[in-house]
Amino acid sequence: LLQGKVALVTGSTSGIGFAIASALAGEGARVMINGFGDPDEIVGICKALGALHDGADMSSPQDIEAMIARCTAELGAPDILVNNAGVQHVAPIADFPPNKWDQIIAINLSAAFHTTRLVVPAMREKGWGRIINTASAHSLVASPGKAAYVAAKHAVAGLTKTVALETAQDGITVNCISPGYVWTPLVEKQIPDTMAARGLTREQVMNDVLLAAQPTKRFVTVEEVAALALFLCRDEAASITGANLSMDGGWTAA
Ligand code: NAD
Repeated sequence: LLQGKVALVTGSTSGIGFAIASALAGEGARVMINGFGDPDEIVGICKALGALHDGADMSSPQDIEAMIARCTAELGAPDILVNNAGVQHVAPIADFPPNKWDQIIAINLSAAFHTTRLVVPAMREKGWGRIINTASAHSLVASPGKAAYVAAKHAVAGLTKTVALETAQDGITVNCISPGYVWTPLVEKQIPDTMAARGLTREQVMNDVLLAAQPTKRFVTVEEVAALALFLCRDEAASITGANLSMDGGWTAA
C-alpha cells in the first residue's frame, strides 16, 4: 500500500505514535521515528520497523529543521507527516506554571506548524501528501486543569483546517484524529497524581475519572488510532481533508 512512500512520525518511540509508525512501516513505508526514550529500546524499535530515528526535540524549531533535512537526505522528502508528539500538564489556571504553558504550546502546537511548513513544498511538487495531526477530544471540548493542552489541541484543529484549504488542489490531505482516552504511558502517568489529589484508588481513577466522559467505558486502543491513520493514507481517502475525526467512544457526542 505505501511502497515507495516516506513517513515521518513525531513522538513515535511510545504509545500512539509508535503504533502509527508500526502500521505505516507494515505497509511498506520508509519511516523516520522521533521521540525520547531508552537508547537500547529505540535501537530495537528501529530494527523492528526498519526505521531511522531522529532525536529532535519538538520544542526546538532548529531541531525540527535539522530533522526534516536529515529525513529528506537519508530517506527522501516526507510523503506522510504525522504530528503526534505531545505532553500534558494538569494544574488550575492560577497555578499553571508559565514554563509548562510554553512547553506544551511548543511541542503540541508550534512543532506541527514548523514540520508542516517545511514538508508542504515537496508534497506539492510530487502532487501527493498526507498530513495527519494527533489532536484529541480536547480539540473539541475542555476539562478543568488542562488550559495549555486544551488550548493547543483546539489550535491544532484550526491549523489542520487552514492547511487543508491551502493544499486542497495539490493532492495533499490534512486531517486530525481526535481520540478520547487511549491507554498509553501518557494516561498511565496521570493516575498516581489523580489518586493522590482526589484520595481515590487506581480502579476508581480509571473508571470514575478517566472513563467518566467516555460512554463506551473502555479505553481507545493505539491499534484503532493507527488503523484510522492508515486509512487516511489510502487513495480512497483523497476527499477527506480538513476533517477532525473523533475516535472517542462517544465522548463528544454527549
Ligand atoms: P506517550 O507519552 O506514550 O508518547 C508521547 C511521545 O512523544 C513519546 O514518543 C515521547 O518521547 C514524545 N515526546 C514527548 N516530548 C517530546 C519532545 N519534546 N520532542 C520529541 N518527542 C517528544 O503519549 P501518547 O498518549 O501516545 O500521546 C501521543 C499523542 O496523542 C499526543 O499528542 C497526545 O496529546 C495525543 N492524545 C493522547 C490521548 C491519550 O489518551 N493517550 C488522547 C488524545 C490525544
